[in-house]
Amino acid sequence: MLLEQERNQIVVFGRKLAAAKLTAGTGGNLSILNRPQGLVAISPSGMDYFDIRPQDVVLTDLAGEIRRGSRQPSSELDFHLALYRKRSDIAAVVHTHSVYATTVACLNRELPAVHYLVGFSGTRVPLAPYATYGSQALARHVAASLGSCNAVLLANHGVVTVGPDLPRAFAVAEAVEFVARIYCQAEAVGKPVVLPDAEMRTVVEKFKTYGQGRGA
Ligand code: 13P
Ligand code: ZN
Repeated sequence: MLLEQERNQIVVFGRKLAAAKLTAGTGGNLSILNRPQGLVAISPSGMDYFDIRPQDVVLTDLAGEIRRGSRQPSSELDFHLALYRKRSDIAAVVHTHSVYATTVACLNRELPAVHYLVGFSGTRVPLAPYATYGSQALARHVAASLGSCNAVLLANHGVVTVGPDLPRAFAVAEAVEFVARIYCQAEAVGKPVVLPDAEMRTVVEKFKTYGQGRGA
């Protein structure tokens, strides 16, 4: 089966997304780009994550032409493709409606560096203006607002994260949700203290060699 590894990862991480309660129902979507082959493996639209099988994953080219699959691709295919075209350093995109990140997005605020783990994204998590789900306008906003960060909030909608592979894009989604929760709780009690940009740049550098050398 073409892109078998990528299809299997979409299935496994879709289930992780649901199990970790990073998204509810059929909300959210995931994709992987195989750059040498110029093919994107993306989750099918509106399917329960526990029902998705490798053959349900849709393969498209970077122009969005379907190359394999009988399912409808995610309605957000356009922003996945826009991000791959914009950022040559990424090969995976995760979109969720995780509760706290979405709460901040519904305030139409970006997520500031109230905790150093925002460094999984960059010095902050920027905010993309609202546009209807699945629209070209949303794809333009998401690609324009991400910049060099690894996460972007979608106003009144959710969050999108990127990475060089799916495990790392998923880890960014977990970290952003954690920091968003801390931010909401800190805002409820008092005034959160935001780390300076210079410190966040230090953290982002340090993450490159964190753990067993793989980096964040
Ligand atoms: P899909 O099920 O079409 O991927 O859409 C879910 C979603 O989150 C739309 O923004
Ligand atoms: Zn969505």
